[in-house]
Amino acid sequence: IYILGIESSCDDTAAAVILNGRILSNVVASQKIHEEYGGVVPELASRAHQQNIVPVVDQALTKAGISKRQLSAVAFTRGPGLMGALLVGSSFAKSLAMGLDIPLIEVNHMQAHILAHFIEEKNQSKPNFPFIALTISGGHTQIVKVSDYFKMEIIGQTIDDAVGEAFDKSAKILGLPYPGGPLIDQYAQKGNPKAYSFTKPKVGDLDFSFSGLKTAILYFVQNNTKTNPNFIKENMEDICASIQFTIVDYLMDKLKNAVQETGIKEVAIGGGVSANSGIRNALKNAEKNLGWKTHIPKFEYCTDNAAMIAIVGELKYRQKDFSEMNVSSKARMTF
Ligand code: ATP
Ligand code: FE
Repeated sequence: IYILGIESSCDDTAAAVILNGRILSNVVASQKIHEEYGGVVPELASRAHQQNIVPVVDQALTKAGISKRQLSAVAFTRGPGLMGALLVGSSFAKSLAMGLDIPLIEVNHMQAHILAHFIEEKNQSKPNFPFIALTISGGHTQIVKVSDYFKMEIIGQTIDDAVGEAFDKSAKILGLPYPGGPLIDQYAQKGNPKAYSFTKPKVGDLDFSFSGLKTAILYFVQNNTKTNPNFIKENMEDICASIQFTIVDYLMDKLKNAVQETGIKEVAIGGGVSANSGIRNALKNAEKNLGWKTHIPKFEYCTDNAAMIAIVGELKYRQKDFSEMNVSSKARMTF
């Protein structure tokens, strides 16, 4: 069974084709327009999705080497995300499913970030249930206890900003372009993580808070540039390394708490921030030092993509879990 996955929740228009757990094509059109504005502009995102969706789906089918008539179902992101952006993907998915007379399958974007681990990959083992998932992205920071494909429980989450936002807002303070997370990562790899210290916010055992960190970094930069206007430029690598170290250490603290409280030592990360080299290394070390079994997704399955939507589509297809044509998009959505 061939399944087409469509993702349009934020600023990436994506389509992928999956066959028996293997990804045949995974196409992403990242919208450049938002860079000028230093953040995603919802109205512009919707328009760009409309321009991109047909060519992106065509390309995904061509790369997979199949015609649309061979599809068994169409899976799409129902939410959470930007309403106007979601509507483009869902309307397209509905039309295609209706035109081809095949099932329509709704997918929860945050579940998809976790279930991306079930895509068949060479030399990569899949998580065993139950496992702990740390979903770290531009809009979410969650610790999820995953008992089965669709049995997930959020046991911890951020009370304010998401970790991706913390990266992006810190980058903005440092004068880096949007989205700054990957840039902080690049500079951090050449810097000293102990050069500066930022205090880690205190909230519940499994919860997160990132808004204080952003303010701390702002004051830190303001104070230092008063005496040295070139402070940022001269110390970019050390500043980025120190910010990244603080964030990764904080994420690991919470994961350790989750492992201790649940007794589950199998841990998987997902979402855009799991592309970060710091968290990837920290998890690899936890395998050696803490005896955890860890799962780190391939880079292209970390940030928004449709391969993760397609795998969820396939899992639901096997359970005949199909959606009605009147299913509505949802900006906010839990499990
Ligand atoms: P959500 O999934 O919560 O709806 P989203 O889809 O916008 O949000 P993702 O695409 O999953 O988010 O992740 C994007 C975020 O990941 C951005 O904040 C970006 O800066 C961050 N990010 C990507 N790569 C890295 C990296 N190497 N280091 C740090 N942050 C990164
Ligand atoms: Fe995402």
